[in-house]
Amino acid sequence: MKGICVLGSTGSIGISTLDVIARHPDRYRVVALTAHKNAEELFRQCLVHKPDYAVVVDSKQAQILNQRLKDSSIFNVTVLSESPALEEVVQLSEVDSVMAAIVGAAGLMPTLAAARAGKTILLANKEALVMSGILFMEAITRSGAQLLPIDSEHNAIFQCMPANYCAGYTSKTVRRILLTASGGPFRTIPLDQLVNVTPEQAVAHPNWEMGKKISVDSATMMNKGLELIEACLLFSLSDDNIEVVLHPQSVIHSMVDYVDGTVLAQMGNPDMRIPIAHALAWPDRFESGAEPLNLLDVQRLDFEPPDEIRFPCLRLARQAVREGGIMPTVLNAANEIAVSAFLERRIGFSEIANSVDHTLGLFPQNSADSLEMVLESDQKARQISDKFINSL
Ligand code: NAD
Ligand code: MG
Repeated sequence: MKGICVLGSTGSIGISTLDVIARHPDRYRVVALTAHKNAEELFRQCLVHKPDYAVVVDSKQAQILNQRLKDSSIFNVTVLSESPALEEVVQLSEVDSVMAAIVGAAGLMPTLAAARAGKTILLANKEALVMSGILFMEAITRSGAQLLPIDSEHNAIFQCMPANYCAGYTSKTVRRILLTASGGPFRTIPLDQLVNVTPEQAVAHPNWEMGKKISVDSATMMNKGLELIEACLLFSLSDDNIEVVLHPQSVIHSMVDYVDGTVLAQMGNPDMRIPIAHALAWPDRFESGAEPLNLLDVQRLDFEPPDEIRFPCLRLARQAVREGGIMPTVLNAANEIAVSAFLERRIGFSEIANSVDHTLGLFPQNSADSLEMVLESDQKARQISDKFINSL
């Protein structure tokens, strides 16, 4: 029986994780659940999963949760609030595994704390890895933590890697990785209509149901850009060895091309419970609740090259990873600011890429070899990006 802490349990990945865990009460015990503000959902989750700790970062909402639990005569859940509590719960001795499913930079500190504490980390929060890069991977190696990718593409690659492969190591027999992408909701919309698309259109992904931020990232393809950087770090490869392939059906979740010409692909329905169950059961397997794949229903699998004119964010991410140093941190911060501004209707869709481009252009190249440097650059990039957006 393993103890798990689910960071971001009220989000799309968090909810899917709890769905899989509920199918295997003999394998996992929920030690801690965390949310930003959604006390109502966290209350429901506490009733079902009976964690020892529930963290709501927003202190007002934490009080509401505490009261709701007391009114229901549930006294054995300790309610905590404020961000440092996230770092405390991941380090509890009862916690073996941490599902890192907070969205954005807010997930960095608790995920890094889990890495430093040598926990098994199920990593969905790609922004945390992209912004801290090598520092994060070094923390994993130093503590001996196990890192299991949840992002469907990276989980697919991990599954196609040689037996006993460990994230962070280079496999000499791998020639390249084929990172698949659905192309999101705007793969075929006429280019001149892209400037006018609304947040509602952008978050309506054709194949996946996800949180708003990653849905917008999928529409701009910054998601694939962040995933490219994520793959370089997780599989210790140069971006030259990673090719992005559009595959609109989202059935093949990525592929590994070996030196002998063998290409291994992982397939399945687009349901995040599959990679989540893989990582939870690893190195074993257990049921996820996902529908079995019926290839006769799918009928065909299509592949196309990505269009960097339509999706400039993909080019910007490649540029950031090639420049290296602090640039992936800057890319991620500028993108987070631009995506929130787009969701708040303060900027148009095309301004997301323009704003990231502007911020990368103004930022001086620097190394990213200390956490202070990363956090400081993250803040500075947010200020540059904000200023640009306010000037529009
Ligand atoms: P979501 O918006 O549905 O959920 C985000 C979670 O993070 C919520 O529980 C929220 O309470 C918490 N959170 C938000 N801001 C916070 C803050 N400041 N402090 C503490 N907690 C905070 O997002 P999601 O779609 O579940 O995505 C989560 C992560 O997983 C993202 O990094 C995303 O890129 C990655 N991911 C998601 C999917 C997917 O299918 N949804 C697939 C692959 C990777
Ligand atoms: Mg993905």
